[in-house]
Amino acid sequence: MGERFSYQVTAKDGAARTGVISTPRGEIRTPAFMPVGTAATVKAMMPESVRATGADILLGNTYHLMLRPTAERIAALGGLHKFMNWERPILTDSGGFQVMSLASLRKLTEEGVRFSSHIDGSKHMLSPERSMEIQKLLGSDIVMCFDECPALPADDATVAASMRMSMRWAQRSKDAFGDRPGHALFGIMQGGVTKDLREESATALKAIGFDGYAVGGLAVGEGQEAMFGVLDYAPGFLPEDKPRYLMGVGKPDDIVGAVERGIDMMDCVLPSRSGRTGQVWTRRGPVTIKNARHQNDPRPVDEACTCPACRNYSRAYLHHVFKADEIIASMLMTWHNLHYYQELMQGLRDAIAEGRLSAFVAEFHATRAMGDIEPL
Ligand SMILES: [Zn+2]
Repeated sequence: MGERFSYQVTAKDGAARTGVISTPRGEIRTPAFMPVGTAATVKAMMPESVRATGADILLGNTYHLMLRPTAERIAALGGLHKFMNWERPILTDSGGFQVMSLASLRKLTEEGVRFSSHIDGSKHMLSPERSMEIQKLLGSDIVMCFDECPALPADDATVAASMRMSMRWAQRSKDAFGDRPGHALFGIMQGGVTKDLREESATALKAIGFDGYAVGGLAVGEGQEAMFGVLDYAPGFLPEDKPRYLMGVGKPDDIVGAVERGIDMMDCVLPSRSGRTGQVWTRRGPVTIKNARHQNDPRPVDEACTCPACRNYSRAYLHHVFKADEIIASMLMTWHNLHYYQELMQGLRDAIAEGRLSAFVAEFHATRAMGDIEPL
């Protein structure tokens, strides 16, 4: 284990890259998918089970943790890794996105955001400096700059003004982060769907200098075509030798398209959330387990999947426990979904390393186009 944070690209195929991020808490193979552990848990999963699916890193949410149980309490109990029993790397978001989507009575100024907790109405402040303090208290390995993400669609003047404030906040985040060997600080590119603004944002971030760069402000309802439109050029504005993180993405086909365009890291609640709402993701697309067609089906969700849900349980069983509101339904379907996502990432990494990404992507789309297996 090295003591520094570093990133090595080991192979390229078109715009796509595969490589390894090294941290004192272990390596992260890229392209990487990060399961989301919002409240210091990936819902319905034990941490060792998350690891067994192949995850190298988890994401934690600053907004949720600062409100409950509070960053100060987690720090007093030895930090987030110890608290949640996950010894590998953790990335924390800045809280900026969620404070704008979840908190009430928000007041946004140059200083930061004042808001009331959605849990108990208590008053709080998030700013670049406070976000850095909280993420340090949590012990996060990859810390995100505090930024503002305007809701799309918005006019260029609004997007530009917001982006320029986020760049001033990026400098304040860097100043507050200081020098922390073994820990990384990522800048976040904004600029909506406007190429000039994306380039201006990337230039500002590179002048400050970060350990990695996120493409922010996407996956906020603009649609896949607009997102891919930005990803056709935005990663190219960022340094070749640093990881590129697309925040909050996505569905399996979003992930494949983002990796093709040069993205190295992603996170999304989708596999875990849909595991709790009865949707399983497979090579042949999404399957809604509550549908009556599954109630007598003795076959697994996916014959080829090696996860515990597919090895040991039938579609009929998953259908039953989901309909009966049994906790094991969430456990099994979340496990399958996270396993499927990590297997997809391994497939992408192998394909890039072996120079056959376009064939892999063609097969990915062809298999999905077949749809679910025929009912019995
Ligand atoms: Zn499975």
